[in-house]
Amino acid sequence: MNDLLTHEVLRTTEKLYYQDQYLTAADTQVARVHADALELDSTVAYPEGGGQEADFGTIELPIGTLRFIWAKKLYGTPIRLEGFKGGKLGGIILHMIHPEDLHLLEQVTAGMPARVCIDAERRDRLTVSHSASHFLYAAAIAVRQELEQWTIGCHIKEDGARFDFLVEEPFSAEDVREIERRANELIAWQDAIENTAVQGFEDARLWSYRGIEIPCGGTHLDSPQRIGRLHVRRKRLGKSKERLMCEFPDAAIDLSAYREHRA
Ligand SMILES: [Zn+2]
Repeated sequence: MNDLLTHEVLRTTEKLYYQDQYLTAADTQVARVHADALELDSTVAYPEGGGQEADFGTIELPIGTLRFIWAKKLYGTPIRLEGFKGGKLGGIILHMIHPEDLHLLEQVTAGMPARVCIDAERRDRLTVSHSASHFLYAAAIAVRQELEQWTIGCHIKEDGARFDFLVEEPFSAEDVREIERRANELIAWQDAIENTAVQGFEDARLWSYRGIEIPCGGTHLDSPQRIGRLHVRRKRLGKSKERLMCEFPDAAIDLSAYREHRA
């Protein structure tokens, strides 16, 4: 294999959010400057993954502060573990720079000291939403088991989460009521949510709650308490395509656990 290509594939960004998901800032340095993005040696920014939207934030450099409006993961190697289809190990994280700050990139060089900070409130909202989505999903599978193999997508935003399914039969009003009831019943237990790395692979992660296990690398709460009551709706997307959506208008945002990383 071409040496340059090997080097590309082997480069990784240290994922500080897996060491501590409450970190809002960290000191690092620039690994590489891309046309519209910055790659850092390490980051607290969660990249888009598993349906969860990416963090937003800033990168403070000696030449000024650049805003990033998205983060994405590239070049991971597939996880060869049962149940982790589509998951990737390692890889690099690109911080996509705000269009108005792109002109500053030409002054940035590899090795430059950098401080990466995220919008903690957005992260907390995404974390609540992501956790809520698992209760929606677990309840949906409990009501209609075939959904598990016909899930075609999910999207986790700050104010709601949704799953899309390929199903012949539309969800009935009764299905939706029962899914909502079960999801809220799970939340009401207020048990501990566990997030663990499987077999030492930091990217192969498992969400578990009361015996329900879902492979997932996103950021999650450690208890469902802050989600509050889930509201579930459905939408027909076209022939054989259904969407389930949840909202959580009573969710409590709490930034007290978040902190900056000090080297
Ligand atoms: Zn998750």
